[in-house]
Amino acid sequence: MWNDSVIEAVRVFRGKELDLSHAGLGSYCLESHEQRRVAIESLLGHIKYFRPYQRQEAVAKIVDVAGARLPDNLMLRSEQVLALRNAGMQIGAHTCSHPILEKISDDEALSEISNGKVGLESLLGEPVTHFAYPNGKPDVDYSAKHVAMVRQAGFVAAFSTAPGVAMQTGDVHQLPRFTPWDRTRSRYGMRLLANMRRSAPQVVASTVA
Ligand SMILES: [Zn+2]
Repeated sequence: MWNDSVIEAVRVFRGKELDLSHAGLGSYCLESHEQRRVAIESLLGHIKYFRPYQRQEAVAKIVDVAGARLPDNLMLRSEQVLALRNAGMQIGAHTCSHPILEKISDDEALSEISNGKVGLESLLGEPVTHFAYPNGKPDVDYSAKHVAMVRQAGFVAAFSTAPGVAMQTGDVHQLPRFTPWDRTRSRYGMRLLANMRRSAPQVVASTVA
């Protein structure tokens, strides 16, 4: 995917400074791992909200300037997705190219949502019933019309990235999520508690039941 290409391009770049200023993407000193990490974060944050075509162009530019030759297996291969499923994981859909739905047309959004589902279903040979909105911020990355599209596409549940915990009264097509990136049980426990104490998770307004 586009973000893997950016990460790999910055990772393999052998120079000390990656100058993307002529592409409007800034210039990055890459002498340490930390600087590479910061550069990757900054580039991804910057181009994430580009329209798909513009984003493709920016990624091509970064790969070109970095002189990177990218392998074609940076994201999961189909057999790895099948292996995950066979090991008991449930596979959900996340669109075809991870666009910010708010930044593309309704037709594009509809085809991204439904083609992502159909593609996975033909690979897995079973219904794909869960969806996650790319980037997932309510009213920023998706809006009520996308929730309707997801529902109409036949997904039984969908996830945003609004933090918090799901309530019975919440919208099953906008379930909140938080990242359990803790290394100890106690910190994980504290994170669970902090999320439970939040007020109701944010959802896009017009779809609240
Ligand atoms: Zn994502």
